Amino acid sequence: MQTFIQQLTQVLGQKYILTQDQDKAPFLTDWRKRFSGKALAIVLPASTTEVARIVQLCAEYRIAIVPQGGHTGFCGGATPDSSGNQIVLNLKRMNRIHGVDIANQTITVEAGCILQAIQENAAAQGFLFPLSLGAEGSCMIGGNLATNAGGTNVLRYGNARDLCLGLEVVTAKGEVWNGLKGLRKDNTGYDLRDLFIGSEGTLGIITSAVMKLYPLPISQWTTLVATENVSATIALLNLFQKRATSLLTGFEMMTQESLALNAKHFPQLKNPLGDKTPFSILIELSDHESEAHVRQLLEGILEEAFAADIITDAVIANNLAQANTFWHMREHITLAQAEEGANLKHDITIPLSSLDKFISETDALMRSKFPGVRIINFGHLGDGNLHYNIAPPEGVDQKVFNLTYEKAIHELVYGQVERFHGSISAEHGVGQLKLADLRAHKGNVAHDLMKSLKQALDPQNILNPHKVVSI
Ligand SMILES: Cc1cc2nc3c(=O)[nH]c(=O)nc-3n(C[C@H](O)[C@H](O)[C@H](O)COP(=O)(O)OP(=O)(O)OC[C@H]3O[C@@H](n4cnc5c(N)ncnc54)[C@H](O)[C@@H]3O)c2cc1C
Repeated sequence: MQTFIQQLTQVLGQKYILTQDQDKAPFLTDWRKRFSGKALAIVLPASTTEVARIVQLCAEYRIAIVPQGGHTGFCGGATPDSSGNQIVLNLKRMNRIHGVDIANQTITVEAGCILQAIQENAAAQGFLFPLSLGAEGSCMIGGNLATNAGGTNVLRYGNARDLCLGLEVVTAKGEVWNGLKGLRKDNTGYDLRDLFIGSEGTLGIITSAVMKLYPLPISQWTTLVATENVSATIALLNLFQKRATSLLTGFEMMTQESLALNAKHFPQLKNPLGDKTPFSILIELSDHESEAHVRQLLEGILEEAFAADIITDAVIANNLAQANTFWHMREHITLAQAEEGANLKHDITIPLSSLDKFISETDALMRSKFPGVRIINFGHLGDGNLHYNIAPPEGVDQKVFNLTYEKAIHELVYGQVERFHGSISAEHGVGQLKLADLRAHKGNVAHDLMKSLKQALDPQNILNPHKVVSI
């Protein structure tokens, strides 16, 4: 091991290999504080050449590598195991923006760029980089691509996969695949880019990417709307899809229970629709015409929704500050949950046509089998994506509750997801959290294909082993 560290030092210099416990500690526990591990060292490369050299050394010494970006992932994918034999390869020093190609409408960035920095750089040049999520101030584009992150704009612009035109990746052998072409059409056989996106560091290390840009919208209107139930909410979504078409850029659902957590932990974030609203829906329209054009359209759709008894109340944000407050309400639910303590998260998708039935049946089953549990259900409803989270009954110890009921609650939710032809991971990935669940729910053929890919691309199993799929 000593020789391995010495050779690493020759590549990076001592400063960028952390081996002391106090230096390693910030990299070893995930954002939720759910997973903690140990590491031989934290390595901080500054270039693709350095990443390639590190991987070559790891291949030679058979040392496992855990790639890490902002460490905001929810599935423990970027946290090492407890052996102390793995290295964490954190990409934060690879944070250069190579530039915007105005004619191609793309931006080329290194994997360690913070998402918000990319958004700001694009905006300064008149472009929108639409990937947006609550962790955007700390997550990195490499992590976003490795998890195929979603967020609040998927409805209009797609997830990280849809926004990516090219990648540079260091393979398990330490070779560099340069796929940074930025093409919108390229049918030259297997799509390697799509293979690495969403692979959570198990097939290669993403070092750079070419991402799509869009013209910045000229006007945006945000509204908060009250509905009585899920079927009315879906009718409202369909109405907006029909009338606003591509101007609809956000459609988020927040239940009364999820906003009650905000009221408890962030009382400054008051719901203008009141505390008793069963479903508060956050809707955003973005336009390239005048403010008046989109405002008129929004008011027209809301009038139609009132007339059809789909909605019971609506508040339109009068300025950017108010619109931001509406978005803060949505984004703070995750933070309020973290304040409240550990909860059982389920990041799932259900076809919109079955969503109403899924929620009513699953809620009823949950309440009958686990009386008193709090169902914190919110999400990117426009994509059929629910964060169907379960908190223990008030006053019950969270650790004891989770230890006792975690397996049974996951089985209940994922059983229902399967029955309604949904997915057990919509946007957060698999990591170590859902390794066994993926095996149980992916289907044998798909799971075997995934194992074959892993074996082919990483036969020594040194890239993030025992995450996503075990070989
Ligand atoms: C408050 C909050 C809100 C969130 N909201 C959303 C949301 O709306 N939508 C959503 O999708 N997610 C959301 N997340 C989850 C998280 O932010 C995303 O999964 C994000 O994409 C992770 O990026 P990261 O840089 O933190 O990656 P990390 O957590 O560091 O890593 C995630 C995975 O990617 C791998 N990885 C990281 N970098 C690389 C690389 N360069 N090459 C190869 N593999 C790599 C890691 O090994 C790990 O398996 C939220 C998280 C928080 C804390």
